[in-house]
Amino acid sequence: MGGIILTGDRPTGRLHLGHYAGSLRRRVELQNSGNFDELYFMIADVQALTDNFDRPQRVRQNVIEVALDWLSCGIDPSKASLFVQSYVTELTEMTIYFMNLVTVSRLERNPTVKSEIQMRQFERNIPAGFFCYPISQASDITAFKATVVPVGEDQAPMIEQTREIVHKFNSLYGEVLVMPNIMLPDNKACMRLPGTDGKAKMSKSLGNCIYLSDDRETVRQKIMSMFTDPTHIKITDPGKIEGNTVFTYLDAFCSDEHFERYLPEFACLDDLKEHYQKGGVGDVKIKKFLNNIIQETLEPIRQRRSEFEKDIPYVYEILKKGSDRAREKAGQTLYEMRSAMQINYFDDAELIRQQAEKYSGNE
Ligand code: ATP
Ligand code: MG
Repeated sequence: MGGIILTGDRPTGRLHLGHYAGSLRRRVELQNSGNFDELYFMIADVQALTDNFDRPQRVRQNVIEVALDWLSCGIDPSKASLFVQSYVTELTEMTIYFMNLVTVSRLERNPTVKSEIQMRQFERNIPAGFFCYPISQASDITAFKATVVPVGEDQAPMIEQTREIVHKFNSLYGEVLVMPNIMLPDNKACMRLPGTDGKAKMSKSLGNCIYLSDDRETVRQKIMSMFTDPTHIKITDPGKIEGNTVFTYLDAFCSDEHFERYLPEFACLDDLKEHYQKGGVGDVKIKKFLNNIIQETLEPIRQRRSEFEKDIPYVYEILKKGSDRAREKAGQTLYEMRSAMQINYFDDAELIRQQAEKYSGNE
């Protein structure tokens, strides 16, 4: 039997190169590999509301943006179920049961949540919903009995938390849930692509993104003003590779063929790096090279997007159909969970018979 995939994105903005490198590109490969029986791609609107509850319009608008970005990257609704989290209400019920299996101190230890709390300046006023979103993520993964979760590195603590919940649920109530495995990008630069400003992570919330839907000129401008090595002033100065965002992006996106096409004076990335470190290679040259590569990557995505944009009702229809399928699957898992937890009072004829027998002497 092949595996099952679940992964998703928060509808908090259009998708960017970090999503593409960290997750989207891999998703499309996995979808087309034929190695998986079921694929579920979720638009995490419930999770987006945990820190955008006062901006429901933002979430509403970005549901369609994420769907368009997915379709333009090659996600195929005939092979995968594309769905909206809030429509699958079973997930919410599962979250309530899972909350019993996790302590507050365990949630406080989650490093991703910790840094997100800092970034959002919640300080002591952390919404309980936001604090608990790793539990809700465990529901998203387990509801579909996902075996593989392809995500960026920032999601590793969430998968770890999910695995603990699966272990606890199964040992308490019986083997119902499937243990999921994280699938990280195999290329280190893709695990956490930095922002164009050189900050640790390209993130919708930090405003340092190159969006998949940016036009050619916007992409060019963002690349030409990217953070490099601040001590590399003259072309002849030796340059640093570590922490140089242009090189991190080249690590993530460039192949030897790109050199043949756009920079034939160098054989490969290692060759370019060596020369840059020695001195003699200017930032404008490496930025122009990166721009060629990124434009080549984004062009087919832009073209497909413009096609899907012509039929928005069809895109909503894709999401509705996928949501119906997702709901059916989550419903099955929830049914099994309720039975294992012994709260399936009305489906259990044996329970009713036993209770009736117990009281039958009292007539
Ligand atoms: P937000 O700021 O709203 O959290 P985000 O940019 O972090 O948005 P998410 O929707 O939280 O995006 O993440 C969706 C998926 O993309 C996750 O699997 C995450 O690991 C991956 N991802 C997001 N940003 C990056 C990045 N810069 N590099 C690699 N993967 C990323
Ligand atoms: Mg995020």
